[in-house]
Amino acid sequence: MVDALGERNISGCYGFPHTHPVVASPQLRETLELWTDSGHHIGNHTHHHASLNWVSGKQYVDDIDTAEEHLGDLLDRAPTRYFRYAMDMTGRSEYKRGMVEDHLRDAGYTVAPITAWFGDFAWIAPYYRAKVNRDGEALAMLRQSYVDAAEFHLRSHVRAARELWSTNVPCIWLIHSTPIASDMLGAILDRFADIGVEFIGLDEAMRHPSNKLLPPVTHLFRNHLERQLSAAGVERDQIPPEMAAAVLNASPLDGYDSFHVYEDRILKPIVKRVGGEWDWDWS
Ligand SMILES: [Zn+2]
Repeated sequence: MVDALGERNISGCYGFPHTHPVVASPQLRETLELWTDSGHHIGNHTHHHASLNWVSGKQYVDDIDTAEEHLGDLLDRAPTRYFRYAMDMTGRSEYKRGMVEDHLRDAGYTVAPITAWFGDFAWIAPYYRAKVNRDGEALAMLRQSYVDAAEFHLRSHVRAARELWSTNVPCIWLIHSTPIASDMLGAILDRFADIGVEFIGLDEAMRHPSNKLLPPVTHLFRNHLERQLSAAGVERDQIPPEMAAAVLNASPLDGYDSFHVYEDRILKPIVKRVGGEWDWDWS
């Protein structure tokens, strides 16, 4: 991913790693240093990556401080101290979010929301299965659909934001560092350049007030822009369910069903580790 960005002269991207994996596997620190040495930055994304919906405000702010203990020196290399909520989820109550927001302000953080994403985590399990199965047809479909989905969802966020704000709003785009991302980030960036995307830094994007306000909390899995859209009753275009199903069900492999991987292997172990309460809605 560093190469894909460097080859296209894109620098100053913010990575938001949670720090639990770095403690479990200290060699991962080298990856983070490669990232910052390559002209990119690191922000705080909590230690455990628990949703604020699962834990108390106190647990959450303690987790922010724990992340800072592990990565403080890398955070300090960035021009701005940014924090991103885990899953961009800000809890079910304004009171609890307020506790976190107060803590962040006192600790000198600016919240960097997500305002354009493409559900890229959905490709993690299918891509793994297709690789294990050496399923060339599925790999090709997954790569193509991944790039197509990135374009579709970027257009969808931009169009909806324009409807809401009557002007173009700078997007804060998310991609996770996954195997398919390292294979396909270059193709996505080229596609974005082809359709006229202008790449700007996070500081510039954050100057727009839409990226700073606090849209109403929701228990649903919605990014910062989507929470604004819900509040205003604006719909965003979604890819047809049968296309999403084709990705999620591609190249079956025993024990690696997509939702089993995302819920039972990724999310629920975090809930267990932090002693939180499982609260999730895919709708
Ligand atoms: Zn995250």
